Amino acid sequence: MKKILTFAVLVLAMTACNKRVNPFLTEWDTPYGIPPFEQILPSDYIPAIRAGIAQQNAEIDAITANPDAPTFENTIVPLELSGRILSKVTGVFYNVTETDRTDELAAVEEEAIPLMSEHSDNISFNKALYNRVAALYHGDQSGLTREQQMVLKRHFDSFEREGIGLPEEQQARLRQINADIATKTQKIGNNILAESNDFLEKFGFSVAAYPDKMTTTEDRELRRQYNEAYTSRGHRGNDNDNRQLLLDVLDLRAEKARILGYPNAAAYILANKMAGDPQTVDSFLDGIMKAAVAQAKEELADMQAVMDREVREGKLPAGSRIEPWDWWYYAEKVRKEKYDLDESQTKPYFQIDSVINGIFTNAKILYGVNMERLEGVPVYNPEVRTYKVTAEDGSLLGIFTTDYKPRASKRGGAWMNNIREQYYDADGKDVRPIIVNVCNFSDDYLTIDEVETTFHEFGHALHGLLTKCHYPTVSGTNVTRDFVEMFSQFNENWAFQPALLARYAKNAQGEPIPEELVTKILNAKKFNQGFMTTELCAASILDMRWHELATTKGVDVDAFEAQVTREIGLIPEITYRYRSTYFNHIFSSGYAAGYYGYLWAEVLDKDAFSIFAASPDGPYDLALARKFKQTFLERGGSEEPMTLYRSFAGRDPDSAAMLRARGLTD
Ligand SMILES: [Zn+2]
Repeated sequence: MKKILTFAVLVLAMTACNKRVNPFLTEWDTPYGIPPFEQILPSDYIPAIRAGIAQQNAEIDAITANPDAPTFENTIVPLELSGRILSKVTGVFYNVTETDRTDELAAVEEEAIPLMSEHSDNISFNKALYNRVAALYHGDQSGLTREQQMVLKRHFDSFEREGIGLPEEQQARLRQINADIATKTQKIGNNILAESNDFLEKFGFSVAAYPDKMTTTEDRELRRQYNEAYTSRGHRGNDNDNRQLLLDVLDLRAEKARILGYPNAAAYILANKMAGDPQTVDSFLDGIMKAAVAQAKEELADMQAVMDREVREGKLPAGSRIEPWDWWYYAEKVRKEKYDLDESQTKPYFQIDSVINGIFTNAKILYGVNMERLEGVPVYNPEVRTYKVTAEDGSLLGIFTTDYKPRASKRGGAWMNNIREQYYDADGKDVRPIIVNVCNFSDDYLTIDEVETTFHEFGHALHGLLTKCHYPTVSGTNVTRDFVEMFSQFNENWAFQPALLARYAKNAQGEPIPEELVTKILNAKKFNQGFMTTELCAASILDMRWHELATTKGVDVDAFEAQVTREIGLIPEITYRYRSTYFNHIFSSGYAAGYYGYLWAEVLDKDAFSIFAASPDGPYDLALARKFKQTFLERGGSEEPMTLYRSFAGRDPDSAAMLRARGLTD
């Protein structure tokens, strides 16, 4: 009997196993349609991607087979709604490969990337589809809403920019280039992660904690070793060396640009951005660089004075000069002396839960957003927390999740990601977004920089959550790279507003942060900005210079960096924020010829904030906040960025507020 029973159980189990349905191929009856993360196996991705590609191909075939003349309704709408399975898979997949990477997932990714790249090319080079889109674009658009016109323009531009008008031979070459870029950029990203994990293994702390360690480590020789290891990532002649790979990627990007009629990759990439062309970006960055280096030299002199005193006290040998590994450490000493601000005093008030309370409270005051913790819903990692986000009238805005702790399986840095985009489905139902904020906070108590990071990423989240668009191509954060950072940086302006600090910055005893400490934080805001701006601006220029090359023939990565360093007057005590071999943004994350976007968007964000600052009600002018929400946060990419900006500010943006905020002018 027992034997038979065992057999029966086994058969049942096998049947169940055979009948297991790929979760991506089912409707999700989870709360709010959150992906059923716990049910997804690594082996589900490839079959789901293949099914998703087949689904989208069939949907596109149906569009092009339609004998009726093209209309927005019979062409663009079904195109926008196509590929839902693929969106479900990629929303989950791209998130976990960045946050919970395993060897198994890495192998899946290696298989997935060429599939996705080929599929995307098949759409880009679909002449029948293009003909319908082009007929609409060149036809009478007067019956379309502004959002529909923008969606149409995006599709038309995208075809043109991918080379639909080129002869087949050149299209074939572009396909090969796209596939090679996809594979090589992925490899670069993986190498950076491996190098960062080597760093962690060697020193016992992650690269995310590098600034903190450089600030607090007294042992100068140890700091030198940290610096050397940090700045030589991807550059050590081991299996993770990125030098040749990045040159290959640059050549592929330059070749693609050339085929498409642009002199270099930067010109191609910038043609559909706010900035428009490399010359505009170059002169923008040059102006900032000069002011930043001048400021950094003053900061250096302050630090050297502290060091000279230590020499006189016999703590350091005669002739000691500030080196790159001394900057953080001596900057902190100057900060303590000049501003009497010590992060060990502020940290107790910035426990992570208090800071989360701060970002939520601020969003509630400004935009009427309510956050409610959800328990028992699917999560991709036990560290993840989920919130239901609702508007003032109780309607659902979306789902927001936080993933703040570092893991060896997680990429460094901080970012926002959409697991699901906002759009209206075929039944006219408003599908609300699912958004994640990912950070790498090594401690439960945050530094001042980390508090800002939390506000920054939540600014992106608000842009994603408050969107009121109809089409996924333009909803939420689907705007140009040099516009998107405006909203994250804009939200940072509230992090240290005294009225908000009084509500959220409390220590373990529940005592609010003392007023004198708040004053010190605010006074110290401009501190070390010469350094911060210099390393950021230098990295932005390095990005531009790489992508302005027509070829890397005969170029050596180190020699090239050294040459740029000389040309821009970067002082030897400061290193690029990211050196080329670990510059994830530009070689693996879609910020190629786009890193300037942070500074560019900061002009917009600081200028917009200056309008709040000038209001009698200050940063909590709620009428102005409503205008900001309606003009920007609800509109996504449904209008040209500059048009939106002018309708908010009533004028063009002015960089004076940004330079003032960074202490680069009076
Ligand atoms: Zn950002």
